[in-house]
Amino acid sequence: MDVKVGDILKMKKPHPCGSHSFLTLRVGMDFKIRCTGCGREVMLPRLKCEKNIKQIIRENSEEET
Ligand SMILES: [Zn+2]
Repeated sequence: MDVKVGDILKMKKPHPCGSHSFLTLRVGMDFKIRCTGCGREVMLPRLKCEKNIKQIIRENSEEET
């Protein structure tokens, strides 16, 4: 699965706050994602994160560094 920084991830399981969308902050062995509902940042092992992804939303292809 091709996840890049800046992607919005739609998750199968929602965050406790009820939001299904997470912004990708960092990718690597672990993914760092920020909940778009409450703004909380979470670190997840890549495998666990990828299993939970329902859809990747890439609004623009330009990467911000
Ligand atoms: Zn949240």
